[in-house]
Amino acid sequence: MPLQVHPLPGPAYGGGSATGYLLVSRGEALLVDPGFDDTLGALRWAMERERLVPGDLKRVVLTHTHLNHIRALSRVVEWTGARVCLSATEGFILENYADLVKKKAEALSRAPAGPPRRGPPGGPPPLPVSLPVLFLRAREDYLKYWGGVASATGDVLVRDGESLRVGEESLRVLFTPGHSVGHICLLHPSTGALFSGDHIPGEGEPYLGPGSLEPAGSAVLYSYLSSLRRVDVESPRVLYPAHGPAGGDPRARIRELWGLLEAREGEMLRRARRTRGLDPLEACRESGAREGPALGLALGNLVGTLEKLRVDKKLERRGALYFKR
Ligand SMILES: [Zn+2]
Repeated sequence: MPLQVHPLPGPAYGGGSATGYLLVSRGEALLVDPGFDDTLGALRWAMERERLVPGDLKRVVLTHTHLNHIRALSRVVEWTGARVCLSATEGFILENYADLVKKKAEALSRAPAGPPRRGPPGGPPPLPVSLPVLFLRAREDYLKYWGGVASATGDVLVRDGESLRVGEESLRVLFTPGHSVGHICLLHPSTGALFSGDHIPGEGEPYLGPGSLEPAGSAVLYSYLSSLRRVDVESPRVLYPAHGPAGGDPRARIRELWGLLEAREGEMLRRARRTRGLDPLEACRESGAREGPALGLALGNLVGTLEKLRVDKKLERRGALYFKR
């Protein structure tokens, strides 16, 4: 019997959850991402359907430690006794979650209000806030869940290229930092199935802006692009993402994402040439992002691109504005 794959879908991002996957071979199971609390029912149901008892779930693999992927972790571990596998970097975040949440919230609340912003002609009124405050507001729905992770630690720290067994099958760990600093994907080499977490979503683009808990850094886009290459060289054939539809061609998505990021760089350089100071928030609204979490995510990704261009010495930043060099 080949590897059985059971998607464990949670509600859309706004409600919190990501899709986890229960993988089964020869009476043994491995869970990729426990997700939010509401995926527990789906997990129990899939285990029953495979005639498995809780102790048959041997490993829980965390692609990364963003809350919508791990909120159910402690309950799953309590129920099954499974060992938790993740990268060392994400292991550090998991062990220090409460502290990191506190520090991040403090840093965001200390952010200065900043000068009043210009509004685009005929557009919505300008927001008299700085970028960090905007992030905080846009992501309030996410922040309110952050307190809910019971202290947890990783049991097994995995590295790139390592194999994890489930029954008679084996999965290869791919280290894919970018969306989060220690993100991993899992590849099932014999079928080409790629469990991509948030590295390659089924549609749209992953969040690549300033970090949720990890420090923000301009290297995010560089890490991300090399992580796309890391996956591409493995020639994966079927995509199982945490968000968006499963079953797509991972390499086609990689080309799409590459194209999208390159196009955004070109577009930002053209805009910076046209304007005297490119305002990320205005640029974001002009490209159609609405208020709320969608604006926060779009703005984060835009700032990620602008910061890469700054490191590339194509733009320079003065205050909140970016100028052509
Ligand atoms: Zn994530």
